[in-house]
Amino acid sequence: MKQASVKERVCRNCKRIVSDDTCDVCGSTNLASTYQGLLIVLKPESSEIATLLKIKKEGYYAVKVK
Ligand SMILES: [Zn+2]
Repeated sequence: MKQASVKERVCRNCKRIVSDDTCDVCGSTNLASTYQGLLIVLKPESSEIATLLKIKKEGYYAVKVK
């Protein structure tokens, strides 16, 4: 089976889904290629789950990082 052309990875530090080698939120290079669940944060300031996960920037986040 063929892999997707854009390789998605997840920051182990803040769980943000990134397509680069560095996380654009916390600057970490500790990325995982396997994750479970997808969390879309549109308004971090008014989202309970974002507050709980300490997410301050909108975007895509993984629920669980392996
Ligand atoms: Zn990060």
